[in-house]
Amino acid sequence: SALLEMAGVRKTYATGAVAVEALRGVDLTVDEGDFVAIVGPSGSGKSTLMHIIGCLDVPTQGRYALGGEDVSSMTEAQLADVRNRRIGFVFQQFNLLPSMTAERNVALPLMYAGVPRAERAQRAREALERVGLGDRTHHRPGELSGGQQQRVSVARALVTNPTLILADEPTGNLDSRSTTDVLGLFHALHDAGRTIVLITHEAEVAAEARRVVRITDGLLTEETPAHAAGAPV
Ligand code: ADP
Ligand code: ADP
Repeated sequence: SALLEMAGVRKTYATGAVAVEALRGVDLTVDEGDFVAIVGPSGSGKSTLMHIIGCLDVPTQGRYALGGEDVSSMTEAQLADVRNRRIGFVFQQFNLLPSMTAERNVALPLMYAGVPRAERAQRAREALERVGLGDRTHHRPGELSGGQQQRVSVARALVTNPTLILADEPTGNLDSRSTTDVLGLFHALHDAGRTIVLITHEAEVAAEARRVVRITDGLLTEETPAHAAGAPV
């Protein structure tokens, strides 16, 4: 069933006398358990779309529903609540707190959710085990490789058991080996039934997803992923 439904979404930024239409009528449906990559060049509207999908901003026009909740006209406080309950964010820059151990970084979203301390620590350790870092729970980000830091941030995204994992250029700061590593992790999460939306400007990263959607000048078109066309023998 549809987890994410966007219809006729427009986003206009008014800067002084000039209005920029960053999204010009976007329709997008993502089913539960799907793995979708959104690709496009710089300036095409990816960040704007990411912010709307992630309930960090609302459309100027059109409808957006996440998990059956209409989020398109929610207040800031309501959006924050939807983000905390439904979305696990993964960022290019990892956004880990350098003074905290991996376990405490992963536990942070649970603190905001009001989960008691002992349960937070337990669930953080479990999430770190799921990303293959069960033996790094007391390391700080500076003691981990880039790929391992991104795994910690994936664990942080998973720990609240979100409806949607939203990853914004998650491999943008990684070398090719760590990129392969992190993409393998997304595959495993998809196989485990997670819904993933990944935003990237790298075609080879997008090719790992089950569906590829291209954004050009504020409009979406569906593409056939390379692997679906069948690999040459
Ligand atoms: P991308 O992430 O693909 O680079 P963006 O969503 O950041 O694209 O930008 C899409 C368009 O909207 C661009 O023309 C950009 O300059 C414009 N834009 C983005 N954010 C703002 C803003 N806060 N104010 C005004 N214009 C913006
Ligand atoms: P960049 O794409 O430049 O690396 P980020 O992906 O780190 O930027 O962040 C994108 C935007 O989302 C930023 O404006 C950031 O402040 C905002 N943001 C990130 N995480 C959250 C969150 N959990 N709640 C609210 N806003 C967030």
